[in-house]
Amino acid sequence: MRTACWIGSKRGLTDAREPLRRYFEARIALGEPPVILPGLRRSEALEALAGGGGGVTGTRPEEEAPIAAEPGAPEAPTPSTPELARLAREGTAERIRELDFDELREVALACRRCALHEDRQHVVFGEGASDARLVCVGEAPGAVEDETGRPFVGRAGQLLDLMLMSVGLRRDEVYICNVLKCRPPGNRNPQPEEIAACSPLLLQQIDLIDPKVIIAFGTFAAQTLLGTRESIGRLRGRTHLYGRFPLVVTYHPAASLRNPGWKRPTWEDLQIARRVIDGDSGLRSGAAGRELSLDLP
Ligand code: SF4
Repeated sequence: MRTACWIGSKRGLTDAREPLRRYFEARIALGEPPVILPGLRRSEALEALAGGGGGVTGTRPEEEAPIAAEPGAPEAPTPSTPELARLAREGTAERIRELDFDELREVALACRRCALHEDRQHVVFGEGASDARLVCVGEAPGAVEDETGRPFVGRAGQLLDLMLMSVGLRRDEVYICNVLKCRPPGNRNPQPEEIAACSPLLLQQIDLIDPKVIIAFGTFAAQTLLGTRESIGRLRGRTHLYGRFPLVVTYHPAASLRNPGWKRPTWEDLQIARRVIDGDSGLRSGAAGRELSLDLP
């Protein structure tokens, strides 16, 4: 049975979870080390804080267990119709842009439309709510993603989960995917022909989800989606437009693990996205072109 947690104040007893949530949000924003709650798994620690709070972890050994692939996921499923099988081999952008979500997933999971299919273990199609208000887009699967078939797993994925929580979003409320669905060998940079082949899958994914905002994580995702060579430092901190969707650019969680000083600007960028979700588009009316600006207050 769960019990409430209360603290005293001049005005009487107060539910302690909200101030605790704000405290842990501030910790993660400032790049503080994690708080260790002995004897709890991370999920139990987060549940104890009612879903709030970054920078919290437990010490139970299960926490360190490797992430397993989704059970039963076939490595190369056969599409359910000859037409979908044909699209997985040679589908044009125009035809892929006509698919519904289930058809799109079938085509992607069997896709051989660029050379990256030769070395992959799994296609990483994406996961999350099909009606998500936020779509997170990274660059391409890494080794763990290729192994598991899931996007943003491992330590970078855990940091992403905590950062989403710090702006009041759970991982299962958003949609997470990459520009490329298959891992480039050795994590090399994606090639233009691979981006061209895979982009229709991402475009259709985003169109069907119809989010309120997109976040591009990392330089490559940002530059690919915005069609620019500008640095992430110049692109972040404001709202752009990707087609009809507001788009916010920020650092990739893996980069923030290497450079903790980027956690705070990432948190600020996530707050921009949160404001767009809450109804502030952040876009100046009357501005033209693909990129519109928002100056932070
Ligand atoms: S990277 Fe994209 S286009 Fe290339 S094989 Fe994988 S799913 Fe198909």
